[in-house]
Amino acid sequence: MSIYPPSLERLINNLSKLPGIGQKTAARLALYLFRTSGEFNESLAVSISEVKQDIGSCSRCFNLTDADPCKICKDPSRDGILCVVEEVGDLLALEGAGAFRGRYHVLQGVLAPLDGIGPENLRIKELLARLQQESVNEVILAINPSAEGEATATYITGLLLKQGVCVSQIAQGIPMGGDLKYTDAVTLKRAMEGRRESC
Ligand SMILES: [Zn+2]
Repeated sequence: MSIYPPSLERLINNLSKLPGIGQKTAARLALYLFRTSGEFNESLAVSISEVKQDIGSCSRCFNLTDADPCKICKDPSRDGILCVVEEVGDLLALEGAGAFRGRYHVLQGVLAPLDGIGPENLRIKELLARLQQESVNEVILAINPSAEGEATATYITGLLLKQGVCVSQIAQGIPMGGDLKYTDAVTLKRAMEGRRESC
């Protein structure tokens, strides 16, 4: 039997479904929400439901947006380089870091044949269509370095090369603050392969 009253128990259960939130944190958040002003809780509830009503995917790049096409696609100062990412979160991280000033294309996943995710489940067809419609000088693949990510990057590289598009892949290697002696063999090998020359 639960130690919490049913409405608090329901809130804890719902909060614990959020990524990175376990039962303990969910209980702490629920008790916090119980103690805060009703006004804050109302505003939180409204913003949770608004996020589903007002935000959709950009029909060009599949970024999250409240207007279609999104701000990035509409920005004329963004140059002809297209950065392909797995998820919207990756796009937001690159934007937040100011690491890239071109346009993006969100694949909405990676190839995962064991989970039944093939090329037709990703936004690959739309990527190829954009290359016909927009002026794109280069495509940068910024796909996460997993086995599925690599297979996806190889597959897309093949398609893009056939269309005569210049393709590059972001560097992989030792992260900032990393230590060579604690780095796994695959990462060390990649770091050596991706070294930068200056001579
Ligand atoms: Zn867009």
